[in-house]
Amino acid sequence: MAASDDHHVVIVGGGFGGLEAARHLAAGPFRITVLDRRNHHLFQPLLYQAATASLALSEIAWPIRSLLRRYRNATTLLGAATGVDAAGKAVLLEDGRRVSYDTLILATGARHAYFGHDEWEPHAPGLKTLEDATTIRRRILSAFERAEWQTNAEERRRLLTFAIIGAGPTGVELAGTIAELAHETLRRDFRHIDTREARVVLVEAGPRILSAFTEDLSAYAEQALARLGVEVRTGHAVSECSADGIALGGEFLPAATILWAAGVAASPAAEWLQAPADRAGRVIVAPDLSVPGFPDIFAIGDTAHVSAGEGRTVPGIAPAAKQEGRYVAGVIRVRREGKPPPKPFAYRNDGNLATIGKRAAIVDLGWIKLKGRLAWWTWGIAHVYFLIGLRNRLAVALSWLWIYSTGQRSARLITGTGVERQERRPQ
Ligand SMILES: Cc1cc2nc3c(=O)[nH]c(=O)nc-3n(C[C@H](O)[C@H](O)[C@H](O)COP(=O)(O)OP(=O)(O)OC[C@H]3O[C@@H](n4cnc5c(N)ncnc54)[C@H](O)[C@@H]3O)c2cc1C
Repeated sequence: MAASDDHHVVIVGGGFGGLEAARHLAAGPFRITVLDRRNHHLFQPLLYQAATASLALSEIAWPIRSLLRRYRNATTLLGAATGVDAAGKAVLLEDGRRVSYDTLILATGARHAYFGHDEWEPHAPGLKTLEDATTIRRRILSAFERAEWQTNAEERRRLLTFAIIGAGPTGVELAGTIAELAHETLRRDFRHIDTREARVVLVEAGPRILSAFTEDLSAYAEQALARLGVEVRTGHAVSECSADGIALGGEFLPAATILWAAGVAASPAAEWLQAPADRAGRVIVAPDLSVPGFPDIFAIGDTAHVSAGEGRTVPGIAPAAKQEGRYVAGVIRVRREGKPPPKPFAYRNDGNLATIGKRAAIVDLGWIKLKGRLAWWTWGIAHVYFLIGLRNRLAVALSWLWIYSTGQRSARLITGTGVERQERRPQ
């Protein structure tokens, strides 16, 4: 490793983009600080599996400090950024502290967006953090427990109704796995309810599910969901969301568990800089991913709006964030070496994958499209490959083999102290 000099690169966010940038800078003559408000890097693509009792939390998250341990010129700090003093070249923290930088990379990701209905959040949690996964798992498992006690048939039916709003990959993955949980995993565990009577309803405002995929793959996914017993309602925007259920298309669907998988908004990085942003709040970056007007500040990953040419933008997915992290590390290096700037960032599409339960998936690699079991194995192998560490890869592969062959999910623990109010409000 090259000796570090005084040039200090601060990276806010130890997610896919930030971590990749740190790793690629670590071999150069830099002092690197990764600041994150959480102590762990989270593998969000498998978060739904933690939320649906398939994987343990520790199998999909790792301490950032330990991931950067071997880079002697990299420091990890736990703390939440609340702003940037661009003139004074410092990141501002919520407790009043400042972290000075020479170059800054903002990689703070995204959060849920309720399209102006933030009051829906307590009733319909989204999936973004380990805490969200724990909350969702608690709500799903508690609904079955409460139904076991319930003698009123109508209320029992409501407790056994699961509504998922938004049919992108996360909504589809949640719906498929909850259906398997109800129809297979829990089937023999209760005495007063038949968990196979559970209703899983996937609601989508657009005309079809998984709109980022081709129409034939999307149609296949809808059939695969139907085989699992999921009711798909496309072309329905939810107009109300309460503790009792959801309203859609003039109908009220009583449901005790409502999950939000419909929208995301960028972190407030653009607001910190008063920089131009798109409708999702993402910083509209220059072709070299720097923030216009701030040559020493870069924005990458889900918090950046990156042009992919012809009016398209780079999608908010993990491989894109990693490619951007790697690219920005390269830009910073050549600047330090006094070499000419590299070509503008160009996104390479490595493919699109989504899974529907434990037996079907769809894969679009551009040059080949797969569906069914072969696609599921491709999806599984790709995800195991991208996990960090041999132990996690083995643990996840073993957990999946176990679920695949027995239908049993071992992470079925209800934890946390929050009491879920799932009983119907008194009329
Ligand atoms: C449920 C779910 C499923 C997904 N599935 C897939 C999938 O299958 N395939 C795929 O490619 N992509 C998937 N994605 C998208 C993918 O996870 C993101 O595109 C990717 O994580 C973006 O990387 P990032 O580095 O921009 O942000 P993130 O990975 O989100 O990292 C942002 C980091 O910044 C930190 N942070 C945020 N604000 C602050 C602050 N103020 N101060 C300090 N630290 C802060 C956060 O704690 C976090 O560690 C999924 C996302 C979700 C939520």
